[in-house]
Amino acid sequence: TETTATRDTQVFDLIAQEQHRQESGIELIASENFVSPAVMEAAGSVLTNKYAEGLPGKRYYGGCEVVDHVEQIAIDRAKELFGATWVNVQPHSGANANTAVFVACLHPGDTILGFDLSHGGHLTHGSSVNISGKYFRPTFYGVERETGVINYDVVEETAKRERPKMLICGASAYSRDWDYARLRAIADEVGALLLADVSHPAGLIAKGLLNDPLAHAHIVTTTTHKTLRGTRGGMIMMRNDFENPFGIKTMKGETRLMSSLLDSGVFPGTQGGPLEHIIAAKAVAFGEALTDDFYDYAVRVKSNAQAMAKAFTDRGYSIISGGTDNHLMLIDLRSKGLTGKLAENTLIKADITINKNMVPFDDKSPMVTSGMRVGTAAMTTRGLNESDMEQVVVYIDKVLMNHDDAATLATVKEEINEWMKAFPLFKS
Ligand code: PLP
Repeated sequence: TETTATRDTQVFDLIAQEQHRQESGIELIASENFVSPAVMEAAGSVLTNKYAEGLPGKRYYGGCEVVDHVEQIAIDRAKELFGATWVNVQPHSGANANTAVFVACLHPGDTILGFDLSHGGHLTHGSSVNISGKYFRPTFYGVERETGVINYDVVEETAKRERPKMLICGASAYSRDWDYARLRAIADEVGALLLADVSHPAGLIAKGLLNDPLAHAHIVTTTTHKTLRGTRGGMIMMRNDFENPFGIKTMKGETRLMSSLLDSGVFPGTQGGPLEHIIAAKAVAFGEALTDDFYDYAVRVKSNAQAMAKAFTDRGYSIISGGTDNHLMLIDLRSKGLTGKLAENTLIKADITINKNMVPFDDKSPMVTSGMRVGTAAMTTRGLNESDMEQVVVYIDKVLMNHDDAATLATVKEEINEWMKAFPLFKS
């Protein structure tokens, strides 16, 4: 067994460095969060040693009695959290969940219609560098230039023109809620399946603070590590099972239910053995998300985002769509004469982590960009409140307005490191 002397210091020293980085800085990357010690303990448990291809009660390996229970708890808690009747908790990530859905529902070459990556969509919704854009025929809708908001009449027109087999909604950088009912009507009109990828706002949806995608979308995918505050991973859900409409049959020629197609889309379609330690960590996180404490957390994530949006607007920053309904916002830095790249590289010098991001109709390249994306999920977990959010914006503004003044950046960094001591992260 491991002792301090035999410990792999090369790696564990780096893990300690990363812990220090997380503790001392301000984390505003909208897709990140901090999991509880219990979630980390489950993720680092002996369940990593177990092979369990298949599903609870139907495995290709012996010795699965215990992990069967674990996986069933994760499934049951996810069902309760989202009002689903069917869930697969095995996807290793959000990208894997989406790929499994495509493999289950589509034939190579089929048309898909997704939200444009450069307007806030995700790579896995048809980008040419992702399997979704290589194996299928991707088409896109976006936001309107004047409002920064999706115009559903345009989505409908595009769907009628392109006749997709799958209409995909969900985003990585869209601060507004989605009209799932309207999207389902559009999907029905053109005979498409509606996939809602709720990776970003899943935690807010679970607590009823945003529209309910499961009431309308045929299939819902999510990551488990953003606002849901679980381990890194993915899952697929449905409220109502149905017969697949595109004629995919079993080898015996029988029509299969979508649940069965999706299960095989995950394994053996796109994955091998599930990560049962991660599934245990998902179960623990879902248990936490079912509590009233998590409801309070989700409410604060939203109110913190509102406070942050107001603080940015008050200082003359331009937020795409003019505000936020969820945990994030996309800021167009052109009115300040800055690029996303400069903002990201400068803020990190003061231990503020954000990511540069394309804004809709951006005239800069993806490596430079005109925008930055910020979110409140992680700092709300640390305990920051609305007035703290204003202080965060004061720091951001000070850094950006003094981006070539090393002394100011160093002073802000010191102040932030001191301030963050008041919000201990890894207390157990
Ligand atoms: N879908 C959306 C909307 C996302 O924002 C993300 C991650 O950023 C993903 C899918 C992919 O998740 P993962 O990074 O776990 O593969």
